[in-house]
Amino acid sequence: MEAYGKHERTARDFQRIRFGKRPIKPAKSDPHHFDLFEIGIGLGLESLRPAELACCFDILCPCGHAHNAEALVKQRGRMEREIRKAFEAATRGGNIGTHLEGP
Ligand SMILES: [Zn+2]
Repeated sequence: MEAYGKHERTARDFQRIRFGKRPIKPAKSDPHHFDLFEIGIGLGLESLRPAELACCFDILCPCGHAHNAEALVKQRGRMEREIRKAFEAATRGGNIGTHLEGP
């Protein structure tokens, strides 16, 4: 249901932009942070200690702000839960990998 709500909001925001009805409500999280977590979780970002995580974002993130280690750790936890939920939904009923099987 939460995913449906997010999808619905994205579709509504798209229509507002499409028909010139701005402004749209900004997202709660920084899109650069979302992208870095999406790319980096699974490649080692999940195992960095808080200070290392903040240092990594200070180097890689284009948002232009100094990064708060505690806030990033919380955001990483939320992203890991969302990724886990998406994986569970995708694999429910044995759907994952069936498209990869050859003849
Ligand atoms: Zn940033």
